Amino acid sequence: MPIKNRFAEMHDEITGWRRHLHENPELMFDTHQTSAFVEEKLRSFGCDEVATGMGRTGVVGVIKGRSDTSGRVIGLRADMDALPIHEATDLPYASKTDGKMHACGHDGHTSMLLGAAKYLAETRNFDGTAIVIFQPAEEGGGGGREMVEDGLMDRFGIQEVYGMHNWPGLAQGEFSIRPGPFFAAADQFTITVTGKGGHAAKPHETIDTTVVASHIVLALQTIASRNVDPVKQVVVSVTSFETSSNAHNVIPETVMLKGTVRTLDNDVQDLAEARLIHIAEQTAQTFGATADVNYIRAYPVMVNNPAETDFAADVARKVSGQCNDAPLIMGGEDFAFMLNARPGAYILVGNGDSAPVHHPKYNFDDAAIPAGCSWWAEIIESRMPVA
Ligand SMILES: [Zn+2]
Ligand SMILES: [Zn+2]
Repeated sequence: MPIKNRFAEMHDEITGWRRHLHENPELMFDTHQTSAFVEEKLRSFGCDEVATGMGRTGVVGVIKGRSDTSGRVIGLRADMDALPIHEATDLPYASKTDGKMHACGHDGHTSMLLGAAKYLAETRNFDGTAIVIFQPAEEGGGGGREMVEDGLMDRFGIQEVYGMHNWPGLAQGEFSIRPGPFFAAADQFTITVTGKGGHAAKPHETIDTTVVASHIVLALQTIASRNVDPVKQVVVSVTSFETSSNAHNVIPETVMLKGTVRTLDNDVQDLAEARLIHIAEQTAQTFGATADVNYIRAYPVMVNNPAETDFAADVARKVSGQCNDAPLIMGGEDFAFMLNARPGAYILVGNGDSAPVHHPKYNFDDAAIPAGCSWWAEIIESRMPVA
């Protein structure tokens, strides 16, 4: 069973939706126009139920199959939010809003799941219930967590969930997946170093926080190199170093460091957090300063369930004739919250030679639409076949 013919027929229509969404990016939970667009489409397809306002601006559509002897309820999830990036593509359908851009392809995800919803509502060629889930705030806001906390799984009786992300560098229309931990836990830290400010020509009368914070930045590198087992994965990145002075001749009273820790298992995460706090506090103390650490576990590790991963890979092979073994990815993905609530799997679909996601020249490849839609639809039809 290759690409479903219906999606070849719908390709132009779905591409039109995708480009409309691309022109009108919205951030985090403020996906009001996008959510209204999705809601209107789902209603026009004849979904049996359309729920709005889940996880603030999330939208859910219910599509019943022609029978329900299986009693199965399968969730399919797409994300809707864009990024605070100034688009640099010169495409005719480039963002119309300065400083906002669909640079992660969530416009493509939303459009492909809408295409699948239209097909499923037309054909109903399955025995059970399909739930299409459109979430806001994947890019750091935890929209997936909010939808789960809002009762998404129980309200619709969802038993399994599946997700998909486009992937630049993977050939257009190909798929890639792995069982077990797949995307990393994404933690955030802020370290505030407080010393004693003063005249830059009299350092002996100060406790120089730039020097203290620099020692902390270097010492944090030893978490990966000296503390964590070398065969395990960890990333500790300091991404911001901000002093309370912007003068050439003033030693700042405080320095604020920000950054992220990425890990793929709980023991490493616990170790990295404990070491980060200890290193910051003790290094500051060595120099007579203090360090106050705020450590937040933002997104958990995203773990694919083995059985559902095998099934998702089989469906990918049906659609495209192949499915690659995906590498571990140190990026975060808040579909992790849905996979913590229900078994399921997350797959990558090729986006060809586009610039990487989160790059101002990134471009979702509309040629991937039929493969993505077919995978969604085939998940439903294969998991809940009509007797
Ligand atoms: Zn992203
Ligand atoms: Zn994304």
